[in-house]
Amino acid sequence: MQTGKIGVTTENIFPIIKKFLYSDHEIFLRELISNAVDATQKLRTMASVGDYKGEVGDTKIYVSVDKKKKTIKVSDSGIGMTEEELDKYLNQIAFSSANDFLDKYKEQSNSIIGHFGLGFYSSFMVSDKVEVITRSYQDGAKAVKWSCDGSPEFTIEETVRERRGTDVILHIDKESKDFLEENKVEQLLKKYCKFLPVEIAFGNEKEWKDGKMVDTGKEKIINNTKPAWTLKPADLKEEDYNKFYRELYPSGDEPLFHIHLNVDYPFKLTGILYFPKIKSNIEIQKNKIQLYSNQVFVTDSVEGIVPEFLTLLHGVLDSPDIPLNVSRSYLQSDSNVKKISSHITKKVADRLNDIFKNNRDEFEKKWDSLKLFIEYGMITEEKFYEKVSKFALFKNADDKYFTYEEYEKIIKENQTDKNNSLIYLYSTNKTDQFSYIEKAKTKGYDVLMLDGQLDVHLINHLESKLKDSRFVRVDSDVIDKLIQKDEKREAKLPVEKQDDLRSVFNVRSKAKEMFNVTFETLDENESPIIITQSEFMRRMKDMSQMGGGMNFYGELPDSYNLVVNPNHQLVIKVSDDLYEAKGAELSANDTERKRLKEEIDFMENDQKKKKAEELSQLEKDDLEKLRKELSEIEDARKNILESYGSGNQIVKQLVDLALLSNNMLRGEELSTFVKRSVELL
Ligand code: ADP
Repeated sequence: MQTGKIGVTTENIFPIIKKFLYSDHEIFLRELISNAVDATQKLRTMASVGDYKGEVGDTKIYVSVDKKKKTIKVSDSGIGMTEEELDKYLNQIAFSSANDFLDKYKEQSNSIIGHFGLGFYSSFMVSDKVEVITRSYQDGAKAVKWSCDGSPEFTIEETVRERRGTDVILHIDKESKDFLEENKVEQLLKKYCKFLPVEIAFGNEKEWKDGKMVDTGKEKIINNTKPAWTLKPADLKEEDYNKFYRELYPSGDEPLFHIHLNVDYPFKLTGILYFPKIKSNIEIQKNKIQLYSNQVFVTDSVEGIVPEFLTLLHGVLDSPDIPLNVSRSYLQSDSNVKKISSHITKKVADRLNDIFKNNRDEFEKKWDSLKLFIEYGMITEEKFYEKVSKFALFKNADDKYFTYEEYEKIIKENQTDKNNSLIYLYSTNKTDQFSYIEKAKTKGYDVLMLDGQLDVHLINHLESKLKDSRFVRVDSDVIDKLIQKDEKREAKLPVEKQDDLRSVFNVRSKAKEMFNVTFETLDENESPIIITQSEFMRRMKDMSQMGGGMNFYGELPDSYNLVVNPNHQLVIKVSDDLYEAKGAELSANDTERKRLKEEIDFMENDQKKKKAEELSQLEKDDLEKLRKELSEIEDARKNILESYGSGNQIVKQLVDLALLSNNMLRGEELSTFVKRSVELL
């Protein structure tokens, strides 16, 4: 028997290991099993090239828990170690690498991820004693047992082991007794070892029989040793990909497409990414991609490794070239990681392009479910935008799909305004904006449906990309002004009469939304009143609702334009009726108003000639008095007009009709409207 001291400088490294790696104790199992897998694969390789001539036999890795003895055992039938190797690998190399590791990451113990490199010594995070019984594959090798109780002292002695291979036996310490629960161990094995290339057996399969669980005597194999991403695409059918998807996400819906990644140079990367059906909420879809390194699970939070928008995808990535034992901020700046990330972006775009080119029908059918993902990518990744904007689709109000280029051609002729801007008309809700869409169509315009979660952002993005183009919602202005052309139309009501009508139609002044009465000279067959909402204000409010940081806009009340058409016969009738009923009052008011204005003008002109200090207080007061009188007269006129308006059935009916066609007439107002309609009939 040999005893010795492990050659490190730190007096006692184990308390440090326990302390610093506190956050992630469970990885010890992954480390031990990875070692066992390595040893097994080395043996298989040697056997296949003839360096090992003995029989290979069973190479499963057995994991077992002994609750009474408080041990976990990992046994492999790999290459094993001779006494010299044991001394070299466990006492010298492994230990010093553990020491290095701790030195390096003392500062950031909380952000340590993927502790590869710590390897074997991570077992001391959960054990107060570790034994290794091993026998090399070499002819005539003797079995040896290494044992260490957490102090720097170890012992090596000869022992007996029937076959080649290694058992690592952990004597689990008090604080870690949870790891002695079979369920816990099984859960860890399923998390980290589900796709390891060597079979891992953990106890026996149990089944439900006669009202209780009974042992079937069949070994329970934890892992699928040949997961789909390690196979050749040519050997896989669509069904195999879907089956693998269900293996990864047992409760997930069928995915839309998959991409099989296989890169050798300049880095190694394999994997399968799936496009899930993305529903409404982006957040809940994230973090489904699992990252592996040589089939060993590392993490399922891949931010920093793949671009943000790709975290909406599902699937696995496997790369031994992603540095795993470093912090997240380091990962983000690592050049390999950057290459990998842009490679994946490119592959995803290429795959989408293939589907578009080869099967446009299918692409269109799946577009609505894909759209959120694609738009997210286009908005956040310039490279992705460049590729994808060639085949990203617009859907119009008739459910037809167009690429951006196709669509531009279609609307170019009709929807270019007098300033040579191309106007993309869009709707966010087919039902609510129905009448506006219809009007636009009658005019020969096409209307896009932009009703997705990210469409407001996409619109902003496209406006910065597409030259001389603007997006305008169909209800943001009257039809003639949505796309301004050079046509001029005469108004049948002169401007002064329109001014009076402005107050007459101001019947919504007490509503919680703001209504601004304006006039637009439309065709006489157009609606008498139309309600519109400014594109700018609405977009700002939408963005602030989505957390775009524009809270100021979010707090403003909704504001609308109540656009009156002075060419409509009913509007003209309201005007005529007004002067018939209130003509005398209004013209008296007008005479008075003109008189005051003339006096003010005269006085202002007179005073302008003098210097400020030459003006007497009396002169100033006189002017002030006249101005006050004028504003009272104007208020009086406004009162006459407003009270006339609010007592006028036609006015109220016209305004309500406009509100109604904009889906804004509800509750009491709606029932008042219905009653009034019946009365009018
Ligand atoms: P790493 O696996 O990163 O090399 P470890 O500390 O986990 O570091 O292991 C150190 C070395 O000990 C391994 O490289 C290997 O040579 C040897 N070793 C560990 N476990 C086994 C095993 N189950 N069978 C054979 N050799 C092993």
